[in-house]
Amino acid sequence: MATLHNLGFPRIGVRRELKRALESYWAGLSTQEALEQAGRELRARHWAVQAASGAELVPVGDFAWYDHMLEWSATLGAVPVRFGQAAGAPVALDTVFRMARGSAPGGGPAAACEMTKWFDTNYHYLVPELHPGQQFRIARDTLFEQVGEAQALGHAAKPVIPGPLTWLWLGKGEAYRGAGDAGKLALLAALLPVYEEVLARLAGLGARWVQIDEPILALDLPAAWREAFAAVYERLAGAPVSILLATYFGALDDNLPVVRALPVAGLHVDLARAPEQLAAVAGGLRPGQVLSAGVIDGRNVWRADLDAWRARLAPYAATLGERLWLAPSCSLLHVPVDLSAEDQLDDELKSWLSFARQKLDELSLLARALELGEAADSVAGVADALAVQRRALRTRAESRRIHLPAVQSALREAGGLARGRPPFAQRSAAQQARLRLPAFPTTTIGSFPQTPEIRALRRDWRAGSLGDAAYEKAIRKEIADSIAFQERVGLDVLVHGEAERNDMVEYFGELLAGFAFTQNGWVQSYGSRCVKPPVLFGDIARPVPMTVGWTAYAQSLTDRPVKGMLTGPVTLLQWSFVRDDQPRSTTCRQLALALRGEALDLEAAGIGVIQIDEPALREGLPLRRAQWAGYLGWAVDSFRLCTTGVRDDTQIHTHMCYSEFNDIIESIAAMDADVITIETSRSNMELLGAFEDFRYPNDIGPGVYDIHSPNVPEVEGMVGLVRRAAARLPGGRLWVNPDCGLKTRAWPEAEAALLKMVAAARVLRQGR
Ligand code: GLN
Ligand code: ZN
Repeated sequence: MATLHNLGFPRIGVRRELKRALESYWAGLSTQEALEQAGRELRARHWAVQAASGAELVPVGDFAWYDHMLEWSATLGAVPVRFGQAAGAPVALDTVFRMARGSAPGGGPAAACEMTKWFDTNYHYLVPELHPGQQFRIARDTLFEQVGEAQALGHAAKPVIPGPLTWLWLGKGEAYRGAGDAGKLALLAALLPVYEEVLARLAGLGARWVQIDEPILALDLPAAWREAFAAVYERLAGAPVSILLATYFGALDDNLPVVRALPVAGLHVDLARAPEQLAAVAGGLRPGQVLSAGVIDGRNVWRADLDAWRARLAPYAATLGERLWLAPSCSLLHVPVDLSAEDQLDDELKSWLSFARQKLDELSLLARALELGEAADSVAGVADALAVQRRALRTRAESRRIHLPAVQSALREAGGLARGRPPFAQRSAAQQARLRLPAFPTTTIGSFPQTPEIRALRRDWRAGSLGDAAYEKAIRKEIADSIAFQERVGLDVLVHGEAERNDMVEYFGELLAGFAFTQNGWVQSYGSRCVKPPVLFGDIARPVPMTVGWTAYAQSLTDRPVKGMLTGPVTLLQWSFVRDDQPRSTTCRQLALALRGEALDLEAAGIGVIQIDEPALREGLPLRRAQWAGYLGWAVDSFRLCTTGVRDDTQIHTHMCYSEFNDIIESIAAMDADVITIETSRSNMELLGAFEDFRYPNDIGPGVYDIHSPNVPEVEGMVGLVRRAAARLPGGRLWVNPDCGLKTRAWPEAEAALLKMVAAARVLRQGR
């Protein structure tokens, strides 16, 4: 039978036990020993779950206190100087936490390492810091200890480590800015001996296989990096263990010839994302080489079509025999732990889903079915499980909850809707006549402080202990307070403050048809932080207006314009688990149509300014450049669909809270929002270069202060920032606004900062 294995299991625990243990330790409420114990328990439980579902090799090294890249940097002794690591001494757990968070119960504070998104996932890793002449050594023993732990529990351990090229590629350092990749690749000379030592130690512990992850093989790689693979793996192949080289998150494509030439004992490929590469990969295997087929989707929550996989894999099972391994496509880190922990989802919907535990069961069923061949459909235990699987897929395909004819015909008609509004100059004149805004108009990004009282309101209302009428009254009071506050501070375009929103996706998802919510479907985002992405399972409809009541109420309290606040279609898509039975572009257009209805309803209710947030636009970019244009095409089209049909004098804003635009500026301009507010305060206006080169034609609100910091900004600083922007942006008008929503701030900070911001706008208007 095909060998079953797993690339990695979610480390956080079904009840987020790791989160609790970490936060209690960080807060000084429990000891390091208690934390270590919690980690041991989680690892033991997770290995047991994997072994019970038939995994013959359990991953070790997928567990991390904060992040597996960080663990690996510590293991390699790559600790930046500012953390005061003593040469030769082991790297302490508190040092790992200081690298992650800047502080820990033991050891002084220091600037934390940078954190960024792991490929195209919502998981964040700590960026390795590299410097020329860097030395490496085995500086932490956790991996070896955990191998021992797994073995003591009776498991065959398969250590999992980041590959040297992926680790270097993802690293950064002063010295490498601009100098390019030669400097990074030069570090291999010092790095590889340590990898060899690690492999030798793992072999000494009795590990037969070591999984080395090189997900950069799913990226466009410069020639020097592609060439480096051969030298690196020829060298590592000399180690006394079998190496399984793991690639995931996409097709190998032009990197396939590189991979084919490597003398590794096994190769794992992602067939959920890139099923089409199966024949080419299998056809190029070296004699004796193992193919690990990543068939169960580690990035999404749907049950797999096992019949389809049986048919596709059967020829390879026949020819490869024991050399065919089965696995999820990537680590299961990116899906929730256990569907059986959900008792609020209805049975039908639940039958369509599969979380980490269930995915391993699917894998083992697939292995049994492949082994039995046609007989599988008559063997008890297998035949009925396959029938259950089939029934789930069929009811999903046929469900009337998923396929709403009205939505589909609306979408067909939308195909004929004009995308795009009259020229900006015409709109801008109409908007100015209606809104009568001063030069350098001031506004905020949407949310105001989410106080404990507001959270309690929402919680009590959800729990049913606060009735609808009382809840509505309380939220209205929050809105009235925030409108009065903004008038007092002197802002020009007001917002209602988003007190009713727990989360910018969840709020809309709960009001739209086609979304479902889990109770425990947590996925690690970074460290102890988890997100619970909604499940976008069906056609999207908007049974009721979602924001009109709150926004119109806010507008009724003031003569100044109130800005309606919507989450954009790409962001709703990007931060959910999305149905896989139709292209994402189709789902995105459905979301856009629903938002279009909302925008038109807001307009009809007298709202003259509408913001459609798209903070996730950039992170949706495919890993391969060749696919960018396709994605950006439908993403921009969806945004424009939201605004099609609004009047010329309705002003559309969008907001993106990041600062890398240079390579997608044309698409952002094509969205054609009347005003875009962006993050600039932390990047010191650097990014505005992109807007300058492109002469971004519409209005821009470069965030003038950093809302992530509790510090109150100074007037001069903000004035200077806007003046620098004005010098570089001869075209559109400039707005004055913070760089993101204020929900994480306290009221006194928000007030102090906004007063200074309004003062800065006054200085700018006077031209002093
Ligand atoms: N309107 C949202 C807010 O102010 C935007 C949040 C975001 O950019 N992520 O909170
Ligand atoms: Zn933002």
